[in-house]
Amino acid sequence: MDPTVPAEFLRQRDSIIDDWFRRVSERPVARSLPRKSILNNVPGLVDQIIEALAKTADLQGGALSIPREIAEEHGESRLDLGYGLMELGEEYNSLRDAFLSVLDSAGIALNNATASALHGAIDQAHRAGVEHYIQCREERLRERQSDFLARLVHDFRSPLSTVLTSVELIRRGDSPSEGLSRNLERIERATRRLLLLIEGQLATEAALAGNLQFQVVEVNLSEVAEDVHAIVQTRAEEKGIVLKEDVPAGIQLRTDRLLLGQVLQNLVDNAIKYTSQGAVMVQVREVGGEVFITVEDTGRGIAPELLPVIFDMYKRSEHVSPGRGVGLAVVKTIVSFLGGTIHAESEPGKGSRFIVSLPREYSARS
Ligand code: ADP
Repeated sequence: MDPTVPAEFLRQRDSIIDDWFRRVSERPVARSLPRKSILNNVPGLVDQIIEALAKTADLQGGALSIPREIAEEHGESRLDLGYGLMELGEEYNSLRDAFLSVLDSAGIALNNATASALHGAIDQAHRAGVEHYIQCREERLRERQSDFLARLVHDFRSPLSTVLTSVELIRRGDSPSEGLSRNLERIERATRRLLLLIEGQLATEAALAGNLQFQVVEVNLSEVAEDVHAIVQTRAEEKGIVLKEDVPAGIQLRTDRLLLGQVLQNLVDNAIKYTSQGAVMVQVREVGGEVFITVEDTGRGIAPELLPVIFDMYKRSEHVSPGRGVGLAVVKTIVSFLGGTIHAESEPGKGSRFIVSLPREYSARS
């Protein structure tokens, strides 16, 4: 690589920065910002790029590498200032132009190796900036979603509890007719399920954020299965899928009810989602100190190459959001928290089977 290029950049370092500043400060997003905010750590970034080019020139080529930190910090600062990804990209294009314009003024022509080193350095910084920008944006979104969910649960909890108390009071009053009793029971169940739905999602969020607030209680599995059944029933009916259950009465677990509900609900949700006709079956068996929960469907099945990684896919945080499934990666995490294991079997075109085994007594796995 031509060593005159990094030497010229070093000499003209301040002009590169000034030129870059002139270009980017014209953009609408930057117009009302002070110089200091716009410049941010770009001078440091320029120094790193020049240094990397100088090193590459010394080494007569070879791999060029610039540290990620400054570019990452830059990406995050742009997120703070409300820049979009396009605007972040424009900043890097302007940086490219500012470097090239210095060479132009000095009448230095770029040979291929030097041009590719320069573009490579700026591309690396750009990539690191964008990756970090996206990561920070997702983290913040998730935090906002958690806050939203927590508020939602809080706001829902009290009116729903009032409904439950009122139901109880009506029951205790004049002995209600059979019809009224039935309706009261429906109201009570529907209300409990609503609570289960929103609190379950919140419990999952908390568990994933490392904020484990387990409430280990005696859980009756047939009740959990019944609740999940009621939650997914309409969706199954709409698709013409039969929901079957083989859950012997009286199987009890000491575990976290909400998290267990989330696991079952997600597996059944998926089974319905990926099945176009036939049935979804939930089966529970107790063997020794363990309880096995099987969710089986007659759906499209899972390709053999997908099966070994099925619990590792989609680890991204956006899977935990209000009103959406939490994803198999999260299901596996919860099952592990509860001291259990999960595995999947499938015959493509015929169906899938997910088997969860849980200890009868909750035992946290680190
Ligand atoms: P999502 O369903 O939102 O894509 P999941 O983590 O729940 O994410 O599932 C990951 C993938 O596993 C799905 O995209 C799907 O390809 C496959 N999968 C999960 N459950 C089933 C099932 N019961 N039948 C067929 N494929 C399934």
